[in-house]
Amino acid sequence: MFDNNNENNPVRKPLMFYVLTAVTVILLLNMFIFPLLMTRQVQVIGYSDFITWVEEGKVSEVSLAQDSDQIIFVATNDIGQEELYKTAVFPDEGLIERLQKANVKFSAEIPTQNNMLLSFVLSWVLPIVIFMGLGRLLSNQLGKRMGGGMNALSFGKANAKIVADKETGVTFADVAGEEEAKDALKEIVDFLEHPDKYAGIGAKLPKGALLVGPPGTGKTMLAKAVAGEAKVPFFSISGSEFVEMFVGMGAAKVRDLFKQANEKAPCIVFIDEIDTIGKKRDGAGAIGGNDEREQTLNQLLTEMDGFDGKKGVVILAATNRPESLDPALLRPGRFDRRIPVELPDLQGREAILRVHAKNVRCSGGIDLKEIARATSGASGAELANIINEAALRAVRLGRNEINQNDLMESVETVIAGYQRKNAVMSETEKRIVSYHEIGHALVAAMQTHSAPVTKITIIPRTSGALGYTMQVDEDEHYLMSKEELRNKIVTLTGGQAAEELVFHSITTGASNDIEKATKLARGMITRYGMGDFGMVAMETVTNQYLGGDTSLSCSAAYSEKIDDQVVALVKEARAKADTILRENETKLHELAEYLLKKETITGEEFMQILNAKPAQPVLTAEQETAEK
Ligand code: ADP
Repeated sequence: MFDNNNENNPVRKPLMFYVLTAVTVILLLNMFIFPLLMTRQVQVIGYSDFITWVEEGKVSEVSLAQDSDQIIFVATNDIGQEELYKTAVFPDEGLIERLQKANVKFSAEIPTQNNMLLSFVLSWVLPIVIFMGLGRLLSNQLGKRMGGGMNALSFGKANAKIVADKETGVTFADVAGEEEAKDALKEIVDFLEHPDKYAGIGAKLPKGALLVGPPGTGKTMLAKAVAGEAKVPFFSISGSEFVEMFVGMGAAKVRDLFKQANEKAPCIVFIDEIDTIGKKRDGAGAIGGNDEREQTLNQLLTEMDGFDGKKGVVILAATNRPESLDPALLRPGRFDRRIPVELPDLQGREAILRVHAKNVRCSGGIDLKEIARATSGASGAELANIINEAALRAVRLGRNEINQNDLMESVETVIAGYQRKNAVMSETEKRIVSYHEIGHALVAAMQTHSAPVTKITIIPRTSGALGYTMQVDEDEHYLMSKEELRNKIVTLTGGQAAEELVFHSITTGASNDIEKATKLARGMITRYGMGDFGMVAMETVTNQYLGGDTSLSCSAAYSEKIDDQVVALVKEARAKADTILRENETKLHELAEYLLKKETITGEEFMQILNAKPAQPVLTAEQETAEK
C-alpha cells in the first residue's frame, strides 16, 4: 500500500512558511492598516472659515501652540464626522474670547498627541514585538531540528540533561579482574564514606582520577562501581556532549554540571571520552583552532580548581588516548591520579567470563579457561559479548542452556564475524583457500616457538575472511622473543608460499597476512632493537590503546634503511616457509585435501594426520641458526 499513514506522522510546516507569513503581515500592516489608524487627514482651510466654523459651533477642540505658526483644530464636517484641520495663524486678539464664547476647548497641546503615541506603538513597538516573536519561533524550530528541543538563542544557558543516577547498583564485585584499578579506587570510596577521617588529619584527596585504557575494559563500570559502593549519586556525561554548535555553550554546560554536582555532593561526576574536550591546546589560535573546545576545557579547569575538594565531589574521567590530553588537566589538584585499566590477562578473562556466565544458563562441564585461553587480547566488553552470542546461538539451535561448542563458536563469531554459510565459493577457490590455510598451519607446526594450531576452517566469515587458522597458546605471554617474532612472520608467509608452490601463482588472499607480517617486522627493527640499528628508537607509538599507531622519529635516510631491512626480513621469512613446505609437500597435499573435504578441522585432527607417517622432523634450534 502506498499510503504511509500520515496521521501518525504530521507534516511539519517548513520554516520558510513562518518567515513569509510574518513578512507579509508586517507589509500589509504598514501599507494599509497603520496609515488609516495613524493619519487622520489634516486639511488646510482659511482663517476666516475657521472663525466662521467656531461661531457656528462646528469646532470642538483647538491647539494654540505658541511657537508654531499654525492653529490645529478638530471640527465636525458636513457628514457629521470629526476631522483634523489646520489654518495659518492670523493676528487676532479676540480669538481667545471667541473660543470661550463658542465653548471650544483650547490648549497649547497638539490634539493629535494620542495618535502620535499610537503611531509610535504601531510603527516601532509592534514590528519589534513581531520580530522578536518570530525569532523565538525560529529558534524553537531550530532547536527542535537539532534534536534537543532547546532554544538555539539561549546562549550561555545550558540545557544539559545531566541526570544523576541515585544508585548505580554496580559494585566492585561486578567488575572482574582489574584488581589494581579497584584498589586505587577503593580509597576514593572510603573518602566518600568517611570524609571526616581524611579532613581530621588534613589530608586532601585527589579531586579527580583519570581511568586510562583501551575501549571496553570496564572504565565506565569502575566509575559506576565507585558510586555504587559509596552509595552516592552518579553524574555521567560524555566529553562529546560538551561540544556544541555555538561557542560558549559547552562551557555553560560544564558550569551547570558542577553546579548540580555541588548541590548533590557527595557524588561522583564521570566524564567519558574526556579527550574530546581535553585535547592538547596546540596554540593554533584563531586560525584552525577550536575556540569552543578550548573554552570548554578552560571552564573545566577553572571549575576543578574552584570547587571545594572537602565537599566530596570526585571527578572520574575516562580516556583511551591519554597521550593526547592537555598537560594542564594532569596537574596536581586536577586529574592527578592516573589509573590504568588494561586489557585482562588470562586470569582476568576467565573471571570476566565467569561474571557474565552467571547471567545465562550453562550446561555442566563448561570450561571457561579454554575460552579465556582462546581470547588473548579480548576486552571485557568482547568477553561479555562472547557469552551473549553463545546464548543467542543456543536459542537459535533450540536449546535452553549454553554448552562449550556455543562458546567456542561465538569466540570465532566475535573475532572473525558470522559464518557465511550461503557464500558460494568455486571449487578452485576453495582449493586455493584450503592450501593457503594448511600452508600457515604446517609452517607453524614445523617450527619451534609457535603456538599450537587448534582449528583450521575454510568456511567464509562475514568479516571477509575466507578461512583461517586458529593458534592458541597454552599460557599467557607477556614477552615475545626474537625467535618467536621471526617464526610468527614465517607462519604468516606460509599461506602465500603454499599457494605458489602448488598452483604456481598467487592470489589476493594474503593481504591481511602481509599487513601483519610487515607490522611485526617493522616493530622488530624500529622499536624492539632486533634489527641492525640496535637499541635506537626509530619509531614511537602514538596511540597505545587504539591500534598502536606509530610515528617515525628518524631521518629520511634512516627511513629508507628501515624499509630495506623490513623487506629483507620478510623475504627471508618467506624463503624459510618455502623450504618447510617443499620438504613437507606430501603432507601439505594430504592435509589440504582433507580440509577441503571437511571444511573445518580441529587441532587434534591436524596433528594426527601430520604425525601419521614420519614427517619432516621439527627443526632444532641449531638447525634454525644454521638456516639463518
Ligand atoms: P569502557 O568504559 O572501558 O569502554 P565499559 O565499562 O563501558 O568499558 O564496559 C563495557 C561492558 O563490558 C560492560 O558493560 C561490561 O558488561 C563489560 N565489561 C568490561 N570490563 C569488564 C570487567 N572487568 N568485568 C566485567 N564486565 C566487564
